[in-house]
Amino acid sequence: MSFLNLSGKTFFIQGVANKKSVAYVTAKTILAEGAICVFAVQKDEQMAAIKILFPDSQVIVCDVSKKEDISRLPELIKTPIHGYLHSLAFADFSEGVKPFHETKREHYLEAAQISAFSFTEVTNALGDLLVEGASIATISISSTRATAYGYLGPIKAMLEASVPFLAKSLSEKKIRVNAIGAGPLKTSASAGIPDYVDNYLYSEELTLRKENLHTQEVANTAAFLLSDRSSGINATTLIVDAGMSANYFDQTIVKGFIRNRE
Ligand code: NAD
Repeated sequence: MSFLNLSGKTFFIQGVANKKSVAYVTAKTILAEGAICVFAVQKDEQMAAIKILFPDSQVIVCDVSKKEDISRLPELIKTPIHGYLHSLAFADFSEGVKPFHETKREHYLEAAQISAFSFTEVTNALGDLLVEGASIATISISSTRATAYGYLGPIKAMLEASVPFLAKSLSEKKIRVNAIGAGPLKTSASAGIPDYVDNYLYSEELTLRKENLHTQEVANTAAFLLSDRSSGINATTLIVDAGMSANYFDQTIVKGFIRNRE
């Protein structure tokens, strides 16, 4: 038996868009441990590509902005689920990042439903498919106050706030619920955030090791959280950011700033 003891257990994975996705790397990691994965993709058009990536796995479509897609999950999945990874987000940045108070109501509500409330809605839809002792996890961001994320910041804060509430309401079945607060990564989601590259390069300087986070490091944490080995961790957000959030006053950056002023 391997340390994570995932062999033969089934995990529902949402959010694979391509090989860079957090969900993809997590799925590869747990499949290598003998787990079984059931995937949900957002659109029909993604089906063929994901089927090539995971030929032996069930792949279904679930656009979380559609109530009917969420409610038919149990009839499509059918099998008992030992864990669920919610690794998806959407915010409409087609008009760029505006001052927060100028956020449009329709953009905010759409992003809140897709990026935050869908975690609760999908968990509820999975219902009895989730076995006693299952573990579910969502991917948030390392700092929900980072300006770079625009109005997605407070929406991720909403997602994180729902985690202890879900953990409490699922506690009778001993289902654990956690979030991972991941630092900046190179994925297609990040490419959609205005000025992301500048912020990504800056964040690398803020990590204590001067090397940005790798998606595999987030995936390793997700695999651990989905496994029984994390049994003592519940109702929390685990920050995975290579120390970035402890380094506001990085001395190299401070000295560079002072040199620029001279
Ligand atoms: P990604 O683009 O590979 O994955 C995002 C996924 O969200 C895609 O598979 C997309 O299809 C899905 N999605 C969007 N709208 C959807 C909808 N209506 N219904 C169903 N699925 C929908 O990017 P990623 O970086 O792997 O993102 C996964 C999670 O990680 C997101 O929650 C993101 O906020 C979070 N995260 C990313 C970073 C980063 O720097 N990339 C950092 C911290 C956290």
